[in-house]
Amino acid sequence: KSFRDLGVIEQLCEACEQMGYKEPTAIQREAIPLALEGRDIIGIAETGSGKTAAYALPILQALMAKPQPLHTLVLAPTRELAYQISDAVTALGSLIAARSAVLVGGMDMVSQAIALGKKPHVVVATPGRLLDHLENTKGFSLRHLKYLVLDEADRLLDLAFGPVIDKILRVLPPSLPPGSTDPNGRHTALYSATLSSEVASLQRASLRSPVKVDI
Ligand code: AMP
Repeated sequence: KSFRDLGVIEQLCEACEQMGYKEPTAIQREAIPLALEGRDIIGIAETGSGKTAAYALPILQALMAKPQPLHTLVLAPTRELAYQISDAVTALGSLIAARSAVLVGGMDMVSQAIALGKKPHVVVATPGRLLDHLENTKGFSLRHLKYLVLDEADRLLDLAFGPVIDKILRVLPPSLPPGSTDPNGRHTALYSATLSSEVASLQRASLRSPVKVDI
């Protein structure tokens, strides 16, 4: 099966080709059609599986259909992972002019606030710094968010980001039921290497009738 067979639009298939992706990986084959149908996803997958494109392609496709600033938030456990994700989103979204901003700790708040002022489509953040911006950066809000990704959820919880994520969830639009395109809500994907009881409770707090994709 090709990316086209999975329902991915031409501009995104071309970007995959430019990146040297010849065919979808197992997690991409499973997750992409479900996400395109508007399902929330729990993906059990390790780094190296192609999980970033598995969630990024359906999100970019939804963004292309209805462009808006602050469309997607990706939460990641570390600075390094946040930059990797942002680079992947920028490369996959290059032919649809998708723009992203990275908000991570240890970097200048003011330059991040300026980046937010440029209305990126996708924000990739570590939880503590995102909350800091939500509380302190004037005019920044995620109330029109359409898509939330919790990447490496097990590591997010190991690093004790649970309470911060709970606070962030409270200021996001509500979770939508499967297939809903209600403009006042969001869909969610959670990716984790393992499904611990802590990850399961984060899943219950943030996803709605999810499908589990385990490769
Ligand atoms: P990830 O698991 O998202 O960190 O991706 C691991 C690596 O696989 C990254 O370098 C991706 O660019 C690459 N990758 C993702 N999808 C594919 C694909 N379908 N074919 C070949 N490489 C891929």
